[in-house]
Amino acid sequence: MQHYLNYIDGQWKDAAGQLLVNNPATGQVYASIAQADISDADLAMAAARRCVESGALSDVRPAQRTTWLLKAAEAIRAVADAGALVACRENGKSLNDAYDEFNEAARYFEYYAGLADKIEGISVPLGKDYIDFTQYVPMGVSVQIVPWNFPVSICARSLAPALAAGNAVVIKSPELSPLAMTILVKAIETAGFPKGAINLLCGKGSDVGRHLVQHQFCNQIVFTGSVQTGQSILKDAAERATPSVMELGGKSAAIAFADVNLDQLIASVKVGIFFNAGQVCSAMSRLIIQQSRYDQVKQAVVALAQSLCPGPGEHNPEITPVISQQQQQRILAMIEQARAEGAQVLCGGIAVDGPGYFVLPTVIEATPEMQIANEEVFGPVLVIMPFEEEAEAIRIANGTDFGLVAGVFGEGLSQTLNVANQLRGGQVFINEWFAGGIETPFGGVGLSGFGREKGQEAIYSYVQTRNIGIRLSTA
Ligand code: NAD
Repeated sequence: MQHYLNYIDGQWKDAAGQLLVNNPATGQVYASIAQADISDADLAMAAARRCVESGALSDVRPAQRTTWLLKAAEAIRAVADAGALVACRENGKSLNDAYDEFNEAARYFEYYAGLADKIEGISVPLGKDYIDFTQYVPMGVSVQIVPWNFPVSICARSLAPALAAGNAVVIKSPELSPLAMTILVKAIETAGFPKGAINLLCGKGSDVGRHLVQHQFCNQIVFTGSVQTGQSILKDAAERATPSVMELGGKSAAIAFADVNLDQLIASVKVGIFFNAGQVCSAMSRLIIQQSRYDQVKQAVVALAQSLCPGPGEHNPEITPVISQQQQQRILAMIEQARAEGAQVLCGGIAVDGPGYFVLPTVIEATPEMQIANEEVFGPVLVIMPFEEEAEAIRIANGTDFGLVAGVFGEGLSQTLNVANQLRGGQVFINEWFAGGIETPFGGVGLSGFGREKGQEAIYSYVQTRNIGIRLSTA
């Protein structure tokens, strides 16, 4: 069994303890990884701090960081095949999707390479006696806590802009799926970043994760994960007033109007809720359908769900396992609760017999006040609901505490745009779920969090503004 290590101060390091990583498709232990403890976390934070103080990242000409980032992108592409196999086995995701994660990671490095030398301040006019300008300076040490659902691409999503802006980074990988991230960082390491610029630890969130965010050297927290953990981290962040980016969960809704193009909608439902077994923060977990097309759309989504075959990620199936037995049981318990509240489970709703943590694609007819229509399931479970009038659809869509993404499906541009303008969320898709890419800003409102990742805007999550005012001497 292969044993993976942590990366601290430019060295791959073992630890006294180890964590075992399961293959969700078989339920068997797949590999182990060094389990960092508090002393490892201290070493990583000290290394990052030394890197910041040395100026090795922040004082160079920004074009140097562009060069490093581009080299890193190339190195990531070179390990994509090998990395994808590990990601598929530790995470359960399909081999193709795992490969896409590495490609997306490379794209983040390329994209932010292009921005590293364009983080420009402004000149502020104050009259003839002054010269005043702003600079964007790095935060310092950025602590980045990563979840298990897309560990490779989410790691790159925060790491690339942080490095582009000149920050040193300490990353805490998720306990359930930390292995492919080590392959990612091994590739990035070859690009020649200064020692201590990147540190990667796997350890328990409750001790190592918490220690990192509370650490005196932590100048910024970038957290991607559940609402509950985010809230707890925010309380810790408050102690030292540490700036934070919070990318949390969602219960995102698509509204389908009577003039929807059914094929287009079904293609979006397929990726929206069944991709990665629904373990996507921005999943289409609710579909609100105008009454006159309700029965037709309902039949079509049920037919879609029933047509999807589960299988191990290595076979590139349409439905992959969920991450753990605990997660599988949690999903099934939420479905049972929905039944108890009177919701109709139209298909799925059960585990697949045999090894691995599979949940059959599930469609549930519910009403807006039910738990299943308000809480994040994080599994292949779609809730459908009818509506009569536009205002009712908007009310239902905006009716949860979350606000990550939303979608509108219909032929009329005025109607879809008008509704999109009224939906609560950081991103609204019209006629294609996940329209957008690494170039488009992403983040939430409400319990879905705050701050933006992706796109040009994300670079400003990794800098702070310094204003310099000069009083000119008078002759
Ligand atoms: P989680 O909150 O359980 O864990 C996320 C990370 O936080 C893990 O690395 C964990 O070890 C760490 N952690 C736990 N307690 C901590 C603490 N007190 N201090 C510091 N770190 C701590 O989330 P998860 O189960 O890994 O991921 C699923 C959740 O993530 C879902 O709610 C999903 O919606 C959300 N998510 C959001 C986005 C986004 O961009 N908005 C992306 C992916 C996942």
